[in-house]
Amino acid sequence: MDSSYLEDLSKIVLYGAGWKSISLVDIFKKVAFTLWLCGCNLKCPFCHNYRLAESCPELCKNLDVNALIGKLNVSSRYVDYFFVSGGEPLLQFRELIKLLAHVKRLFDVRIGVNTNLTFPKEIRDLLERNLIDFIAIDVKAPHSELYGLTGKESERLWKEYLKGLKIVSERQILLEVRVPILKEVDVKEFKSELKDALYILEGAECEYYIRLNPILGPPYTITRNSLWAQKHCNPSSKDVEVVRGILVEIGLGDKIV
Ligand code: SF4
Repeated sequence: MDSSYLEDLSKIVLYGAGWKSISLVDIFKKVAFTLWLCGCNLKCPFCHNYRLAESCPELCKNLDVNALIGKLNVSSRYVDYFFVSGGEPLLQFRELIKLLAHVKRLFDVRIGVNTNLTFPKEIRDLLERNLIDFIAIDVKAPHSELYGLTGKESERLWKEYLKGLKIVSERQILLEVRVPILKEVDVKEFKSELKDALYILEGAECEYYIRLNPILGPPYTITRNSLWAQKHCNPSSKDVEVVRGILVEIGLGDKIV
């Protein structure tokens, strides 16, 4: 490893909560080295990582990128992916792209990003530079309920999300689409937005699969908004079947894993 490379690496400034060298739970049926970056532009009321999303100083710090690369060096032979999660990792796009370029150059691992997909330009850039192989997203529908933002901003970011999905759909990449399942949300609105999003994937170049994701809340876990969570989290198996039925109805039942 030459010293100029080390110098470059030391200049990368990323604000995060740390990493896990071997994770069996972050990517479906794959082993990942997972890095968590802090900060997020959404305020999802069900967010389990809200302290990290809010850049809580007890949890988040400037990362030692040399130490990170050292750990990845040890783990890389055991992992399928270097996976960046958050928070919203693309908020730190300028620095993240440098890190991913180093990882791509140094290690024989695929790279994945967990994103809320509201940064379409940045996603396009990562794809055009061939820096990512896998993207994990949610369909946070209805966005007016799940983004936790005011009406106009929520609408604007949902449009950005749909743009991002179109960009991803045109690339040969692996995409995980998680569908958060909650109770007592407007089913009509949920269905309409789910269709708007998933129709974009019709005839897509990307390979994708869908995961149903019942969202837990108190007493099982802590969420950003506990009052909201008491009403909407911990859906019943019937709620899950309603969502499965909608996916079957729109012809995507076989995409559920
Ligand atoms: S996008 Fe993810 S990290 Fe950000 S608030 Fe929503 S659930 Fe939390």
